[in-house]
Amino acid sequence: MSASKPILISGAGLASLLLAQSLRVAKIPFKIFERDTSFAFRAQGYRLRLSSEGLDAIESALDPQTWQLFWDTCGKTGGSGFSAFDAVTGEQTEHVVPEKLDSRGGQIVGIARGDMRRIFAQGCEEHIEWAKHVTGYELTDDGVRATFADGTKSVEGSMLIGGEGIYSKVAKQLSGGKLKVYDTGARGIHGQAPAAAFKGLGEGVFRLRDDTGPDGGVFVMTNVRPHDENDTSLQFGWTMGGVPGVIRAPNDDYTIVGEQAADIAKSISKNWDPRFKPLFDNMITAEAAFWKITCSTPSGVPKWPNEPRVTLIGDAVHSMTPAGGLGANTAVRDSALLGRLLREAGGNIHGVTTAYEQEMRVYGSKAVHESYSTAVGAFGIKIDEESSPVV
Ligand SMILES: Cc1cc2nc3c(=O)[nH]c(=O)nc-3n(C[C@H](O)[C@H](O)[C@H](O)COP(=O)(O)OP(=O)(O)OC[C@H]3O[C@@H](n4cnc5c(N)ncnc54)[C@H](O)[C@@H]3O)c2cc1C
Repeated sequence: MSASKPILISGAGLASLLLAQSLRVAKIPFKIFERDTSFAFRAQGYRLRLSSEGLDAIESALDPQTWQLFWDTCGKTGGSGFSAFDAVTGEQTEHVVPEKLDSRGGQIVGIARGDMRRIFAQGCEEHIEWAKHVTGYELTDDGVRATFADGTKSVEGSMLIGGEGIYSKVAKQLSGGKLKVYDTGARGIHGQAPAAAFKGLGEGVFRLRDDTGPDGGVFVMTNVRPHDENDTSLQFGWTMGGVPGVIRAPNDDYTIVGEQAADIAKSISKNWDPRFKPLFDNMITAEAAFWKITCSTPSGVPKWPNEPRVTLIGDAVHSMTPAGGLGANTAVRDSALLGRLLREAGGNIHGVTTAYEQEMRVYGSKAVHESYSTAVGAFGIKIDEESSPVV
């Protein structure tokens, strides 16, 4: 690897930015190409729960100061643990979906996606090129260039890392179409409400479930940090999901945000227990957004002929359903692993993508399978790898 050629990274999401941190610490040059025109921190919506593996990966990739800032920003939910409720009656129930939430020190650790992205971006901003919609890549004699939707190409890099999420074109090109993301038909809405709306819940991580609807079940996941429910400056997020057919965006348009999504969430929750209703009745309408529940090939990350100069991280290579809270946790493992291998390679990229993909395929496939299997029971989805629609 020539010292002057940067590592090219497609997408400025969680996985890409954490990889960039790892390269920054090792003084390996890099360039990030992001489709959006800026970080839209306010519209980053939902809160991510971090597992012990996810936290270990993040800590290993960040320098000590950035890690400390990250850790201090995380919410730590203590003793109350993870409770399930019948959304309509308000009664506590057994967990329908088996899920373990082990973070650190007996606490469940979570952070807003926007905060995580903002911290991971620190010190990397000058290396991000905005409004660059990556459509694929071209191999050169001694490197690779990313290609963009406006017909232009990037500078020559030593490698290209595709981290541009579930619609990754780099993934399609690299795998020759073997990497697929299925549309499960299940849909969700995520929203936010002032912290006071969560007062009736108390502290902890909560799953609400309503199985009374004629079309099937709906669930909501949320968490409340200790002592924060009285802070009027704070908002907490929640995520609502439904089995296929229960939640539908107008014209199946999942880019819609705001009132239409908020109205559907309010209508679904209209008969819910008074403890839970403020989460929806008092929601910040503008923050409501639809999302599609998608999943990569449940049987695992497929094999493709290795290309030493191009590989994939995060949702681009293993996207999964929200069941299990594994998506971001698996994405950050990729960044930490690939970052470490690149640092250890000391300028010689030979064998790096082979070693990375060999290890990533094992834990990535396991995570997709676990998330899919859980979602089959929880959201009534079923993927036929031959015939189900892909996104
Ligand atoms: C509602 C919800 C709740 C979730 N909760 C959890 C949780 O509790 N725990 C957990 O572990 N995971 C959770 N996840 C999953 C987690 O958010 C994802 O797995 C994670 O964000 C993947 O990171 P990434 O960097 O691979 O992709 P992303 O974060 O999606 O980033 C991709 C980036 O690439 C950019 N991009 C896209 N296309 C292009 C292009 N063509 N060219 C250039 N740039 C492009 C995008 O704008 C974006 O910035 C949740 C997901 C959702 C939707």
